[in-house]
Amino acid sequence: MRTSWRIGSLFGIDIRIDSSWIIIFTFVTWALSSFYFPNRFAGWPQWQYWVIGVVTSLLFFASVLGHELTHSLVAMRQGEEVRSITLFILGGVAELKGEPESPSKEFSMAFVGPLSSMIIALFFWTISLLVRDFSQPLWALTRYLGLINLIIGIFNLIPGFPMDGGRVLRAIIWRITGNLKKSTRIASVTGQGIAFLFIIFGIFLIFSRAFFNGLWMVFIGWFIHSAATRGYKQVVMRDMLKDIMAKDLMNREFETVSRDLSLQELVEEHILKRRQRAFLVFERGQLDGIICLDDVKAVPKENWANTRVGDIMTPKEKLEIASPEDDGSSVLAKLVGKKVNQVPVVKGEKVEGILCRGDVLQFLQLRAELGA
Ligand SMILES: [Zn+2]
Repeated sequence: MRTSWRIGSLFGIDIRIDSSWIIIFTFVTWALSSFYFPNRFAGWPQWQYWVIGVVTSLLFFASVLGHELTHSLVAMRQGEEVRSITLFILGGVAELKGEPESPSKEFSMAFVGPLSSMIIALFFWTISLLVRDFSQPLWALTRYLGLINLIIGIFNLIPGFPMDGGRVLRAIIWRITGNLKKSTRIASVTGQGIAFLFIIFGIFLIFSRAFFNGLWMVFIGWFIHSAATRGYKQVVMRDMLKDIMAKDLMNREFETVSRDLSLQELVEEHILKRRQRAFLVFERGQLDGIICLDDVKAVPKENWANTRVGDIMTPKEKLEIASPEDDGSSVLAKLVGKKVNQVPVVKGEKVEGILCRGDVLQFLQLRAELGA
């Protein structure tokens, strides 16, 4: 269960804030205003610690946004679609559609991230030199931002997938071996190794009385580890589905219903009898829409007798449609991306079959069990 809010858009990309970001923003602001600045600069009025703390914290997250935005802009230049950038507890994440197509694209897309953080660091560091003699608070603020962006840049260069450095590493191995799966595996294993180092170091810190820093390290390590594992699984799955087509996965024997059918009849005569969750709706031999169990469940039971299939079905215009020659991974992306459970497989005007999410998952499971 995740909630996020859209706060605006830049270059056509939605900028979003995840609810978990509030926690990290509060924490960073508090740590800056109550510890970092007071420990280094004594004698400011209390309100000034908080004002500088809040502004620094906001600029810090703006820098994170700048880092993600650079990734996104390079990706868009290469023809990728970027849906949104979300700030969350561990920084920012840009939601891209699909994986990069070539090692060189992957390389430039990943590399600009740390590069942008370094440039932002240089920018704040230059300002800090300029304001040094005029204003201590401004100097403190810009110096901190220069330092933290430098750290972000260096952290992201750690060569473990899925961090930027890991993606750079993957691109290099991919270029050499020509094998995306193999290079992802190597970069992921490196990522997992680095994650363990973080965790071990974190535990060491916890026992040397640096409890919070240690806990933070363990948390980052755990995050890197799960991301590395997940990233690799996705690539393996895509690889498995690459050479299978929609026509091999789809169900050719499907029952159709008419739009004038009542929901009562649909449930009794079709859903319960066939134990099928979705039905294509046909009108004069042509595809008209699709109706599934969830649509029916949304209607109160007492209205089933007087509601027609045509009233609540997803009409043809709004349907996601696959073609028989689509490969499995693009069909799965469609199912997941549009949050639907089935797509009709259509060639020209003719419906050849229906493909359900379950079919794809079953295929993956079968292949995994057979070790193929
Ligand atoms: Zn990055």
